[in-house]
Amino acid sequence: MQVAPPDLLEARIASVTASMAARQLDALLITNLANVAYLTGFFASTAAALVTGDAITLIGDGRYAEQLAERSAASEKVRAHQLPPGASYDQTIADVMRETGGESIGFEASHLTVARYNFMAAALARSGRALVFQPTDGLVELHRAQKDWWEIAKLRDAAARLSDVAKCILPKALAGRTESEVAADIEYEMRRAGFERPAFDTIVAAGPNAARPHARASGRRIEAGELVVLDFGGVLDGYCTDMTRTVTAGPSGARERRLIEQVIEAQSAAFERTRAGSAPESVDAAARDVLKKYGMGDAFTHGTGHGLGLEVHEAPRLSPARSSIAEPLLAAGMIMTLEPGAYFPGWGGVRIEDDVLVTADGAEWLTDAPKAGDAA
Ligand code: ZN
Ligand code: ZN
Repeated sequence: MQVAPPDLLEARIASVTASMAARQLDALLITNLANVAYLTGFFASTAAALVTGDAITLIGDGRYAEQLAERSAASEKVRAHQLPPGASYDQTIADVMRETGGESIGFEASHLTVARYNFMAAALARSGRALVFQPTDGLVELHRAQKDWWEIAKLRDAAARLSDVAKCILPKALAGRTESEVAADIEYEMRRAGFERPAFDTIVAAGPNAARPHARASGRRIEAGELVVLDFGGVLDGYCTDMTRTVTAGPSGARERRLIEQVIEAQSAAFERTRAGSAPESVDAAARDVLKKYGMGDAFTHGTGHGLGLEVHEAPRLSPARSSIAEPLLAAGMIMTLEPGAYFPGWGGVRIEDDVLVTADGAEWLTDAPKAGDAA
């Protein structure tokens, strides 16, 4: 697995320490695994990290001894701390925090359970170390939204590979096969294209199932003339791609064809509005206005897109309203999906999704595969 070069990891750590200083935090406990990976290049099913001053202590267990040693050898800013045999993560984290200078420790409020928090606070209190815990939210995620050159190259490569998967799958016959069979084909092609795993459960949703934006693939057989939503993504070196095409199985009817064209028009309108400085909600409005124009405002039941990176859903979020004032305007280097859709319960639905890179004066498509056309 390839990871970002050490100078980029160090630049990311420096950005986070600057944000910590602005909040008067002496240390920051990282328990979101994607944030650990972002700052250290360490990918694991369990880990934690503590940012202090301009360095980061990476906490991992013996299963990852080799990667821990490799990560700390790669950068003098990364210190690996392996769990002593038999020790728990939370006791080890408390021990590392106790050794830390300073009084104020931030933690990731959305990624630390109350039980773990209570355990660490009690362990520190027992040891006589008085620390003030400060909840933080999205501190590292805010930096992750704007990709560095290495991440842009990685996601560009991943999007090109996913486009090849789409081009291979779309011409194949769908009618008579089950949704699950088609999903298995997609996942097989993703592995062949170099992806380490699917980024989420592959969606193949035909006929009435296509009316449900988050349908999974079922054992239902696809019938001729039905709309089929294919939504799939892969993970390449930790980075997620995501795309959707909607096709008709066999020759399409006029209603199906028109609906696909209208959703493509909505996606184009969102793309035209995408540039550095745009508000995320204005990009959403551009797509939504097109569907409203066709009387389908109520049929578009989700946001227009989401950021992509180490997680398949991350900042920015393109929806009708920003959830908080802290959500930033679009900036060059952000990578996100544009995925308007329209859904009609009991009948079917259409969604078209591509990945784009935000640039200073516009946007660039990263995924590239035919958007309209009948499946065989
Ligand atoms: Zn998707
Ligand atoms: Zn998506």
